[in-house]
Parts: sequence; structure tokens; C-alpha cells
Amino acid sequence: MPRRWLFADQLGPHFLDDRHQPVLLIESKAVFRRRAFHRQKAHLLLSALRHRAAELGDQAVHLRTETYRDGLRKVREPLEVCHPTSRTALRLVQSLDRVTVLPPRGFVTSLDDFAEWADAKRGALRMEAFYRFARDHHQVLVEGGEPVGGRWSLDKENRERPPKDATRLDVPPPPMPKEDDIDAEVRADLDRWERDGIRFVGRDGPRRFPATAKEASARLRHFLRHRLATFGPYEDAMLADDPWMAHSMLSSSFNLGLLDPLEAVRGAERAYRKDGVPLPSAEGFIRQIIGWRDFIWNLYWYFGPGYQDSNELAARRSVPDWFRDLDADAVHAHCLSDVLADLRDHGWLHHIPRLMVLGNYALQRGWRPAELVDFFHRSFVDGYAWVMTVNVVGMSQYADLGRMSTKPYVSGGAYINRMSDYCGGCRYNPKVRVGDDACPFTAGYWAFLAGSRDRIPANARMARTIAQLDRLRDVDELIKQEKRRGDKAP
Ligand code: SF4
Repeated sequence: MPRRWLFADQLGPHFLDDRHQPVLLIESKAVFRRRAFHRQKAHLLLSALRHRAAELGDQAVHLRTETYRDGLRKVREPLEVCHPTSRTALRLVQSLDRVTVLPPRGFVTSLDDFAEWADAKRGALRMEAFYRFARDHHQVLVEGGEPVGGRWSLDKENRERPPKDATRLDVPPPPMPKEDDIDAEVRADLDRWERDGIRFVGRDGPRRFPATAKEASARLRHFLRHRLATFGPYEDAMLADDPWMAHSMLSSSFNLGLLDPLEAVRGAERAYRKDGVPLPSAEGFIRQIIGWRDFIWNLYWYFGPGYQDSNELAARRSVPDWFRDLDADAVHAHCLSDVLADLRDHGWLHHIPRLMVLGNYALQRGWRPAELVDFFHRSFVDGYAWVMTVNVVGMSQYADLGRMSTKPYVSGGAYINRMSDYCGGCRYNPKVRVGDDACPFTAGYWAFLAGSRDRIPANARMARTIAQLDRLRDVDELIKQEKRRGDKAP
């Protein structure tokens, strides 16, 4: 049986065909020289790879080299590798004569099935349509060809505001991994690399995300039993003192390849059918995995290499240093400061602070999408080229003018006020758009619409918003104010 080369995001048992298969693991230090990763992300990647090497023992050749090519020079035998997750890595493995590239693993819908589905669609590709296809194709929450509960998406039931007067959701916290000698070694190596000039962002902290398949499975079981029921209704809500809410915190485990996504999906379906978890919660979690995650993965390959440079809204400004360096202390806007602080301290945020606080602010300010892809890739424990390219370029920044989403994800302070407890403790007022108290999100929202209205394709939803814009009497003043504010931390 040929030796299987596993990248650091292919670490679960489902990336091997046989539990005794010989393995190659290469730790490339050059990866950390190229971009300033979040310190906790670097820790998680190295910890996961070294834990896998320790589990496999003599079965694995584990090399620590400057580049992958340096590592490959030390191994003479033929190798197999599962389709890597980035274009750069795919080019590398395809350029090597003695490496056989196998189809991808770690996702649910295959590239071929997706391409067939997408080729048959006319016009824009929509997650909702793909999600139906995937539910039906993989027979998840489907009976007699119909969705269980009568509707494919129960998203409307899953948009509750946070509970009144609560500062935290009433759910047990996710089990946190216990650090061991491997983590201690990783931490010492990263300290040394930093002294030698390799730069990281964010703060170091205890490892909060699973580094082994065992830790990931334990977190999944706990989530399905204790947190999934609450996840659904509050999946879009934010509380300043509750960074995890009832989210699974498993995205990094799926993206490291520690967990098989279809197993998690089947687990959520069982939790609904056997354990009384409400259908909207199970459906919401399943949609995140076989819907969004697979949609984004497949689009990364389907849209091709030019897509990452899309910039149809002509966003020309550079991401400012305070944002890039997660300098939460420089920011007065309560929501933005708290979200940057959480990211600095944990390397993770759930999807709403990513999309409706960070992404929304960046879109309003006209920051370059390619720089934002890099920011999200580097700063999040679950960030990779495949996941951040389409999520940021297409969904968050609307830089493809709607090839995969129906409208720009842009909103004023009213949305943040409705879905969080941030605004009560803020020096700005979400209802005010001009003046000292003007909420930067509210002012930024109208300034963005005024500046981009001619580029955004017309549809009924946008027409209503533009009609509102036309009724505002202070647009000129507002635009001047936002120009003065520029990219200074708000
Ligand atoms: Fe954020 Fe505006 Fe609310 Fe302040 S008032 S927390 S800046 S949305």
C-alpha cells in the first residue's frame, strides 16, 4: 500500500484507506514565514499535526523542514495524497511525478456532482437551491422525497434576538481540550520562532479547539446532547459576555479534517429523531455543514482561479493597521471593539460577528476584498484559502455582484442593536447617522449605499432600500462626515 501524504488539514481517520497505511506528515516552517497567522491558529495547526504523528507512531514519517519540497527530498518512495484544499497546494502535488492525487475527502458533495448541478443552473448559483439538492442527494432529513417538517429551510425560526436581560445563554460550555506535552513543545517552538523574527497576530492562550479526532468527537457528542437545541433559535444572536453562545465550535475540527462532516450531520439528524432536539435546530446545523460549508468549498473550485481577484464594487482602500492587528483597544464602537477583542483572544468568532460586524464594516469602508480574504484566512483558527475566498469575496463583500448571494450583507446599527446587547453600552447611538453620536455602522450603511447604488444590480429588495436612501435629507452631510472619519478606528 503506497504511503499516504497527509496535509495538516487531512488529519482524521477518514483520510486513510486502512488503519495500518504508512503515512507522511511534513511540517513546513515556510508557511508561517509567509503570513502573520493568529498565534492560536499556528498553535492549533502544529499541535494537531504533531498529535497525529504521535498517534501513528512508527506508521508515520514525520518531517520538520523549511518547505514541503525539502521534506519530499527525504522520502524516495511513491506517494498518494488526497486532493489538497488550496490551489497552491494542488499545483505543488500535481507537479510531482511520483505523487498520485486522489479525489478530495472531508466534504459531502463531490466536485463532479456539484459541477453537474451548477452547470444545469442558469444564472446565479444560490445556496438554498444547492442545499435542497444536497439534502435530497444524501437523503438527510428527507422522507418520500419531501423535507421532514414540510420545508427545506426553517431559518425563519432560527433568528431570535438574544433572551431579554441575559448576559449568557443558559447552556453548558463546550468541553475544552486539556493541553499536554505536545502543546508545551509547540508553545516553546512558537516562542522561539517569534524571537527569531516570525510574526504572529492575536494573543496566545490555552488551546480551546480540538487537535485530535478524539477531542473533536467528544465536543461533537457534547454539542448534540447539550447545546444543539439552543443553537438553532440563537444562532444569529450576539451577547457581549458570551463569545461561544450555543455554537458547536467545531468549524476548525471539520477544516482540520478531524471530523467527518457527514457523520456530524447524521448525528444531528438522530438527535432530532431520537432525542427530542427541535427540528429547526437540527436543520440549522445540518444546513451549515452540507449547505454552506460544501457550497463554499465547491464554489472555490467551480469559479476558478480568477474569482479571488473579483472587485466589482471597486473597493480600493487598504485594510487599516488597527483592524489588521486586532487592536481592539483603539476602537470605541462597543460592538467592533468587543468582536476584535474576542478575535484577538480566541482566534474565533461565530458567523454573525464575522459577517455583520467585521465584514459589514469593511464593506462599508471599501476595503480591498483580496486583503480581507488574507485577513480572515490568517486570523481565524478555521481559516483556509478555500473557505475564506468565496465567503469573503462573494458573500461578505459582494465583490462578484451576486454570483452566489442575493444582496450585499450590509446593515446599519439597527441590525446589531436588534441582535445583540452591544448598543446599550456604546458611546454611539444606532439611530443617529450624523453628528458626534452617529453610529459608524448606521452612517457607514447609508454612505455605502449612496456610493455604490449605481454598481449594485437592481432587485426588489435593493429598490426598497434605495427608495429609503432617496428620502434622506442629510446624505451630503453624512457623506462628508464619513469622508472625514475615513479609516480611523471608530
Ligand atoms: Fe455598534 Fe453602533 Fe451599536 Fe455602537 S451604536 S454598538 S457602534 S451598532
